[in-house]
Amino acid sequence: MVSRAWVEVDEAALRRNLRRVKDAAGPDASVVPMLKANAYGLGVAAVLRMVRAELSGRELFAIGVAAVAEGEELRALGWTGRVVVFAPAPPDELPRAARAGLTPALSDLDSVRRWAAAARETGRRLAFHAEIDTGMGRAGFPYAGAAAWGAAIARETGDLLEWEGCFTHFHSADEPELAPTDEQQRRFRESLAALPAPGDGSVRRVIHSANSAAAVRRNGYGGDVVRPGIFLYGGSAGPGAVPEPVVSLRARVALVRDVPAGWTCGYGATYTASRPERWGTLAIGYADGLRRALAAQGEALVRGRRVPIIGRISMDMTVVDLTEVPEARAGDAATLIGRDGGEEIGLDQVAAQAGTISYEILTGLGTRLPRVYVDGTRAHRDA
Ligand SMILES: *Cc1c(COP(=O)(O)O)cnc(C)c1O
Repeated sequence: MVSRAWVEVDEAALRRNLRRVKDAAGPDASVVPMLKANAYGLGVAAVLRMVRAELSGRELFAIGVAAVAEGEELRALGWTGRVVVFAPAPPDELPRAARAGLTPALSDLDSVRRWAAAARETGRRLAFHAEIDTGMGRAGFPYAGAAAWGAAIARETGDLLEWEGCFTHFHSADEPELAPTDEQQRRFRESLAALPAPGDGSVRRVIHSANSAAAVRRNGYGGDVVRPGIFLYGGSAGPGAVPEPVVSLRARVALVRDVPAGWTCGYGATYTASRPERWGTLAIGYADGLRRALAAQGEALVRGRRVPIIGRISMDMTVVDLTEVPEARAGDAATLIGRDGGEEIGLDQVAAQAGTISYEILTGLGTRLPRVYVDGTRAHRDA
């Protein structure tokens, strides 16, 4: 136990999830693991090391991020391979992206012109991927009219730029019904077919559309590349795409007290003891990413038993009712997400209880929590 509270990351499970995505996408597909937002909160340096250990150079096409600063961080970590920046960058960040040797996703002609200007300045031929909007509506060239905008891009790029890839992004690939995703893929294909061929005819553009859900449930739609995120980190990507758990959230019981019937708990005194009770104060709160919305139905595991969260979750503390676990002691590790003995609290279950999604739970895990990397194989065997 390293701290008052911490995040445990099961490296072996993450690597098995990554391998499952790669296997589903097929032998010809390579992978762009999405490491944006500090690898969904798990720690980008460690996750970079894991994906490099799991995938061969040929299997690992690039690392995916959302922000130019995240690409710069990967360079500082010593990653010299491709970095694709998927979110549109504010105009003034493109020169920085060029200096760091990043590959942006571009969504309009203005950005293509700015990227060409950056190439002229740096004196290097710069690569980019064109995003095609097939219904996500937040970025990309419209899927219709590809012949016209494709030709316009080609005019801007000249010899300055390498139009390396084309991709789209799905809005509902984790839903039970996959017809809307199939329709987005159809639009993507239609758009690609209308694009002018690469100039010298020798270069084949890299085509990709699949997030975790489409990689696992639709075998990546036969794309050259798949772009998994949440599945690697243990979040469900829809029916038939449930990964192994990767993340555990633990906090120590800092204090155990007996309280009389009628005693109240937390801001707003929303909870009142209905009998003499034993309460445990956990050293974790919403500043650590434990969502206040969990208070109504949230639970923790203490000594392998389920105990309810009572009262409101504070910034730094959370109270659980330990009356049914009389052997609990200050110093025990409580589990808010993950397994303890025969019991388990799932990431997706916590997200549902908090009225959100696994992505928001993971990326909301506080910077105050150390990330601890374990090989869970043995622990699971012991359990
Ligand atoms: C975040 C992101 C992904 C990964 O999505 P998951 O649902 O986490 O697998 C893939 N592609 C793009 C463009 C993204 O921004």
